[in-house]
Amino acid sequence: MMLPPSAGVIGWPVAHSKSPIIHRFWLNKLGLDGDYGRFPVHPDNLGTAIRALPALGLRGVNVTIPHKVTTMAHLDAVDPLCTRAGAVNTVVVNTDGSLSGYNTDVIGVAEPLRALGVPRQAYPNHVATYVQIIGAGGAARAAIVGAIAAGYGDFEIFARSTEKAKPLAELAGAPFGEALPLGRLRPTRNDDDGRDDQRYSHVVINATSMGMVGNDPVQIDLTHYYPDTIVFDMVYAPLETPLLAAARARGLRTIDGLQMLVAQAAAAFELFYGVAAPRGHDDELRAILVNA
Ligand code: NAP
Repeated sequence: MMLPPSAGVIGWPVAHSKSPIIHRFWLNKLGLDGDYGRFPVHPDNLGTAIRALPALGLRGVNVTIPHKVTTMAHLDAVDPLCTRAGAVNTVVVNTDGSLSGYNTDVIGVAEPLRALGVPRQAYPNHVATYVQIIGAGGAARAAIVGAIAAGYGDFEIFARSTEKAKPLAELAGAPFGEALPLGRLRPTRNDDDGRDDQRYSHVVINATSMGMVGNDPVQIDLTHYYPDTIVFDMVYAPLETPLLAAARARGLRTIDGLQMLVAQAAAAFELFYGVAAPRGHDDELRAILVNA
């Protein structure tokens, strides 16, 4: 008997996850008889839960906090992007029952960056865009790998602990990755540039929970950033974080956390259900997510 395709999300806790809304929305739009559930899995039970996926008849699961790193040890194969990012956020059950890991957070970063165009070239063969990553956790690693996939190459990683930022600077690749204390977060400018010089630009990515409801905002003065700076906030509750509000007030380009969430989910949807997510309905989906 052919079962309807089902997938889900595992995490601890997982009640807050918006992934079921997104996947069910797309299943519905495609008229597919499938489902997507929430599975709270305590860290002590992670291996048992992952190994049970084939027996449960699931096509796969998304993996959220706190399992993104530890899940890798329970898989038969991992995509090279997972190895680089050091984490998986999607597990796929293959037809032979083996388990493969993917990191679609990387795609969630790369897709909206690519949509804003190619990185700025100051000189032939030289990309003059400084990518400033705030944070040194799993999302920050995905931000680096995703931005590299989108064509960026010059990284500054700002964290409370420079020690924690150093491995990320290495991931970005010497000599283009630098670990810096959070207090040093300000634009990297060249002495001979005027205020609105367009030879250089920035991408600023918040990969921490700063700015989330109940948390302090990112402390940053955007006044002296180049005018074509892209400010990307992974936080999506609220959708308009203080960081994004300040960027819009300054006329800078922005990417919000929902754009990333939907882009990473679309890549996972295709892996689970074997068809592309119907992205023509993104505006309707965003309105549903904002009100959820
Ligand atoms: P994580 O592994 O726990 O890392 C969090 C990072 O944020 C750590 O470097 C931590 O610093 C730093 N941090 C937290 N609070 C801070 C503060 N007040 N000041 C300075 N640094 C602070 O978490 P994660 O998985 O990387 O996720 C980070 C954020 O990205 C979360 O808000 C998550 O919701 C978001 N995210 C969004 C999407 C999306 O699709 N939009 C996808 C993935 C993640 P310490 O190490 O010093 O504690």
